[in-house]
Amino acid sequence: MPRYIIVTGGVVSGLGKGVTTASIGRLILGAGYSVTALKIDPYLNCDAGTMNPIEHGEVFVLDDGGEIDLDLGNYERFLDIDLTKDHNLTTGAVYREVISKERKGEYLGHTVQIIPHITDHIKNHIKRVVGEKDILLVEMGGTVGDIESMPFLEAARELRNEVGKSNCLFVHVTYVPILKAVGEQKTKPTQHSVKELRSLGIAPDIIVARGAEELRMETKRKISLFCDVPANNVISAPDIENIYELSILFEKQNLLKVILNHFELTEKREDLKEWRELCERIDKRKVERTLGIVGKYTVLADSYRSILEALVHAGTIYGCKVCVKWIEAEDLEKNGEENELKGLDGILVPGGFGSRGAEGKIKAIKYARENDVPFLGICFGFQLATIEIARDLAGLRNANSTEIEPDTEDPVITLLPEQRSVKELGGTMRLGGYDIDIVENTQAYRLYGSKKARERHRHRYEFNPLYKERIESTGAVFSGYCKERAEIIELPEKRYFMASQFHPEFKSRPNRPVPLFLGLVEAMMNKGSMEK
Ligand code: GLN
Repeated sequence: MPRYIIVTGGVVSGLGKGVTTASIGRLILGAGYSVTALKIDPYLNCDAGTMNPIEHGEVFVLDDGGEIDLDLGNYERFLDIDLTKDHNLTTGAVYREVISKERKGEYLGHTVQIIPHITDHIKNHIKRVVGEKDILLVEMGGTVGDIESMPFLEAARELRNEVGKSNCLFVHVTYVPILKAVGEQKTKPTQHSVKELRSLGIAPDIIVARGAEELRMETKRKISLFCDVPANNVISAPDIENIYELSILFEKQNLLKVILNHFELTEKREDLKEWRELCERIDKRKVERTLGIVGKYTVLADSYRSILEALVHAGTIYGCKVCVKWIEAEDLEKNGEENELKGLDGILVPGGFGSRGAEGKIKAIKYARENDVPFLGICFGFQLATIEIARDLAGLRNANSTEIEPDTEDPVITLLPEQRSVKELGGTMRLGGYDIDIVENTQAYRLYGSKKARERHRHRYEFNPLYKERIESTGAVFSGYCKERAEIIELPEKRYFMASQFHPEFKSRPNRPVPLFLGLVEAMMNKGSMEK
């Protein structure tokens, strides 16, 4: 019988419920049980693909092409698993399927209602996703009390009745603020949100309290008393610099025991050792290097979450802490590259869409190339790097992407053939994992150490093969291909000038950093700037 852990959130959004859920998963994994996770997003979008990163953080991409909430990135990184799009369920997706069944007459004349039809659909999905695994973590997006999350919470309540209390555990993540004037940890918001949850028929088994500091004993006792959970089940999750340490912090508070006791399970093995060592290595990074990330969603770090994590993973190998300087591409256009880029140890141009800021990014790439600053371009960054090389080295002054300038004289980057007839935006890009052939005797080959790779994609435009010879005549090398599509470009003369059409960051794991990020950090380390 599979077990379910339902994670809800209270008081405010943005508590880091995804990391909390993933850390609980890591803890259980260490005890020898197989774990997977499902993210529920109560919004009406069918998936995260059409959402602006500034509103919702990055769109994470899975191997099967799912465009997914960024929390699935946390699950993949913490649990070291590859998920499929089934592991993200939105209100939009639920309604789409239920309505399509209704149109086909599959409800046999019955009135189709939120309860039981929508809730049944949700429950069936949850039960299907657990598959052969021992435990499924279900993270409920949003905050308890929101109208839109009601059907999901109702489904969770029913699920508990169906599978029995000892197979279903509710974890409620709340926020405990500290009032500056009195310095006291305030539990009232937690009390209120638990009350709200109880009014929906759900009594939490465990309360995880987020906050700036660790919970004091008296605060734990108070939450225990008012929210009717044993004091041992009130878990503190203070702000920490290294998010991978959260599982260890949970372990210290005996959270694993509380969970296993609830499920009437015993610890099969204690295997958090490797994870602990990894956290120590992350903490031990001593040398600092500064990387400029030139993008247009830089106001929200979560827009580039997987890139930031990939930098931590690669940095750990070299004992290097990569500090990020965020550079808005439009500011670079206004203020000039010297002002924004001078002194950086590396420059990264990430994925992006549309013309706003594109010229600023091209300026950054030119600066990196001319000053031999280690450079990594990702997706849009690959396309713009190719344009920069075409303009400055191949003499195609007006080279551009048809995304930026539809009638450009030299469309070095152009729409993929299969994209020309696409009308809808959602789920229609070239998405997901594709096999890549790496060209021997190149920097890419040195880094991958193999002629084969598999990388994840999310784009509509690509390099126009008509320009291949012109570009390669400059000394640039296309060192990775997906069938005949050029997907990696490098400048062998430079210390590190590398760009890829795919997104290497989506495959980076704490214990398995990815080649293109390793190459970047290695080059930044060798730059010889002062050790701090
Ligand atoms: N806008 C570009 C395209 O659609 C790049 C996409 C991206 O960077 N993810 O091809």
